Amino acid sequence: MINALLDKLLAENLKQLKPYESARRLFAAGESGQQQIWLNANESPFSNEYSVDDSRFNRYPDCQPETVIKSYACYSGLAAANTLVTRGADEGIELLIRAFCTPGNDKILICPPTYGMYAISAETYNVGIEIAPLNKDFSLDLPAIFEYRNKVNLVFICSPNNPTGTSISESDLSAVIAHFADSALVVVDEAYIEFDWQSSWAAKLKDYPNLVILRTLSKAFALAGLRCGFTLADSEIIQTLLKVIAPYPIPEPVAQIASQALTKDGVATMQQQVEFLREQKLAMKEQLVAIGDITLVGDDKANFILFRTKAKTALMQYLVENNVLIRDQSKQLNLENCLRITLGDRAENAKLIDLISHFFEQPIQNKQESAV
Ligand SMILES: *Cc1c(COP(=O)(O)O)cnc(C)c1O
Repeated sequence: MINALLDKLLAENLKQLKPYESARRLFAAGESGQQQIWLNANESPFSNEYSVDDSRFNRYPDCQPETVIKSYACYSGLAAANTLVTRGADEGIELLIRAFCTPGNDKILICPPTYGMYAISAETYNVGIEIAPLNKDFSLDLPAIFEYRNKVNLVFICSPNNPTGTSISESDLSAVIAHFADSALVVVDEAYIEFDWQSSWAAKLKDYPNLVILRTLSKAFALAGLRCGFTLADSEIIQTLLKVIAPYPIPEPVAQIASQALTKDGVATMQQQVEFLREQKLAMKEQLVAIGDITLVGDDKANFILFRTKAKTALMQYLVENNVLIRDQSKQLNLENCLRITLGDRAENAKLIDLISHFFEQPIQNKQESAV
């Protein structure tokens, strides 16, 4: 009964939509009781301490909590008027699509392989998706992108890119932003910028009114559980996004914790943790290439490593059996046989390397998979 009713009512554009794939389900099916190691979602291995003052929980929070906005503006070298705080960078993506695309009419441009939520958010709002795949070396295909002038409203570019770990060159990005100056907003997703800080575009916002930057506290700041992100842009763009944002998008405890994370001490802690992860990343890359049928893919400008192995299905399965989860990226365009490892703490990284080495020492029949 209810199914027939839902079929009748469900929005046309949602009928084919597959929700964002979370590896948590796959892992939940594994052995319970065992300690599980999560190296699949680019989360930080650190959990830092915060305190919460509950004396204002009876009141609605500010729409844009002033301390959070001021601290983040200061952290990114911008004015408060150029800063919007959202429920994760994911909400920023959604607000941009809702504010600047007319459902059933307008389109966005994405450059795969890249982060999955741009396309999912667009589909959710019945906004079209055009594709200009990255080149073989994961640089932007400028001629392909330039074709879309006046054909898309938003261009999403992720730099450093998830899952390739590559940063887009300054000259390519400035060419794209200039090309779309009178026809589209160019959204640069800087979710991993703390791992490649000097390549941030924040300082160039004043030169490019159609540039929008997305940021998050989920990665380097070790606060994926907080759901707090930022959109940086021209103040007129921020004002437009404020039209579509919910009246109270940032819960009071989130605002309090974000403010603590953005103090001088909080930022210093984040920077030490980024440095630790960088060292772990360099060490793990050396260990991985010494193992055997493993080729590193892309670059290392974020907190993860992408690699290719013909044994990817068997290796994933072996890791899951041993309670370690990394992420399969092999269904993404041009990433056949690729897996992605998020850097964890020292013990987690060591356990992973042990398991991978052990896997490749096993009898050969496990290793080859029929070509697909
Ligand atoms: C993790 C991630 C996000 C989402 O960040 P939240 O603030 O957790 O919503 C956005 N973009 C990219 C590229 C990411 O990897």
